[in-house]
Amino acid sequence: MMVRATTGKNAHEPGLKPRLGISTCLLGENVRYDGAEKRDPVLLGAFGDHVEWVPICPEVECGMTVPRDPMHLADDPGSPRLVTTATGEDQTERMQTWIRSRLDELAREDLWGFVLKSRSPSCGRRDVPVLDSTGAPAGEAAGLFAAAIARRFPLLPVGDERSLRDDSMWSNFIERLFFLKRYRDSMRPKGSRGSLIAFHAAHELQITAHDQDVLREMEELVARPNELPLDELSSRYEELLTTAMELVVGAAGQGADAAWHRETARHKEAAGHREEVV
Ligand code: SF4
Repeated sequence: MMVRATTGKNAHEPGLKPRLGISTCLLGENVRYDGAEKRDPVLLGAFGDHVEWVPICPEVECGMTVPRDPMHLADDPGSPRLVTTATGEDQTERMQTWIRSRLDELAREDLWGFVLKSRSPSCGRRDVPVLDSTGAPAGEAAGLFAAAIARRFPLLPVGDERSLRDDSMWSNFIERLFFLKRYRDSMRPKGSRGSLIAFHAAHELQITAHDQDVLREMEELVARPNELPLDELSSRYEELLTTAMELVVGAAGQGADAAWHRETARHKEAAGHREEVV
């Protein structure tokens, strides 16, 4: 049974719990290709009841069955296709059609961020293997849904159950949730040069703690706010803002991956080297 969070009239009002999109299988729903789930008690316990989850399963929501044929990413890592592993059936267009309409819905949900299932050809936010026509590794990419949300919602933090096991990644994710939400709220209902400058002045210290070089670029930008049209000014500012906040993530992510590999190795040893897909 699929869980869809209720989105009552008051759910989007300021001051309520952060609303996070989440891969449905992480909540314990049996939506995976093999009919199983991937409930992550550590992750769910860490967030507790402090957030409101908005479950999303791209594969089931685009009309695929449970169970279904396992899939992988294929061909060009720069523009991968989603295909069934056994038969090579191309599911890319089906998924992309669903993504286009679901992203429009999600844009109205006032989400603060996403927690996705790692290594999935749909939900994996990075490092998903891409195979060539012989089945050999051709590179890595984000899953189709994860790539689409990164393009559509560049200001929303995206984590996965692996990366958030790392303390630094966890702290950074939580900080970005609130920080970027404050920025988006400060630019509503209609952003202005004044609101952007006020936000920058109020958060300068916090940005300094992340990256002083990027801060200098931001300062140059807000010092001459009339040199660019407002949409260009805010889009450049947002680019710098996300770069400044993401630097910590990149460095700590390596630690998270190493920790995950160690944990997986222990798990496999304990389970007699049973293989685990996605
Ligand atoms: S990883 Fe994503 S597409 Fe796969 S079962 Fe989980 S929610 Fe569904």
